[in-house]
Amino acid sequence: MSIVKSSKGYDKLLLEGYSYRRANKSQRIWRCSRNDCAGRVTFDGDQYNRITEDVHAPNPEATISAEFKSKITTSATTSHDPPRRIIYEVLQNVDKNDDAAVPTYHSSQRMIERERKRNDIPLPRPLTYDEIVIPDELQITNGGARFLLYDNQDPNRRLIILSSDDDLDLLFNREHWNNDGTFKAC
Ligand SMILES: [Zn+2]
Repeated sequence: MSIVKSSKGYDKLLLEGYSYRRANKSQRIWRCSRNDCAGRVTFDGDQYNRITEDVHAPNPEATISAEFKSKITTSATTSHDPPRRIIYEVLQNVDKNDDAAVPTYHSSQRMIERERKRNDIPLPRPLTYDEIVIPDELQITNGGARFLLYDNQDPNRRLIILSSDDDLDLLFNREHWNNDGTFKAC
C-alpha cells in the first residue's frame, strides 16, 4: 500500500495492484481510477478495506510505474541533483525483475525536466558574477547547518566560501593541508 501523487498532483492510493483516487475530496473513501469500475476502498483510520470489488484484474506493473514516477517528480523539485542521479537513486529501490515496468531513461529524464520547468526551478546559468544567486536550500547542509560561510557580493571580485562546520573542524585538527585549484587567480 502506498499513496503517491498523480501526474496532475492528486493523491493516488496504490493497493494490491489496483489504483484509486479520492472520492469527492473524501479522506476516507477511495474510488477506482478507472471510470468503468465501481471498485471502492475505505480507510477506517487503521487499515484499508475494499467495500466494492474491482471488476478487472490487478495491474502490478502500473503500481510500480506510478510509484517510480511519483518518486522522480518529487525529487525533481526537492533536490538539485542532475536527472541521471535522481533516476539512478530511485532505480536502486526497484526490483531487477520489475525493470520493464518503469518508464525508459529518456522519458524519466523528460519527466524531471518538465516538473522542474512547471515549478519554475531550472537553475539559472549566470553570465556575470552578480548574476550568481545561491538558492537558500544550497546555503545550508542537508542537516540544516550553515554551508555558505562568506559571500562578498562584489560584482567585480566575487568571493564565495562554502564549507560545513564539521569540515572546518576537520581542517582545524590537521597538521597539514593540501590544496588544489583550477582558478584564474588564486
Ligand atoms: Zn477498479
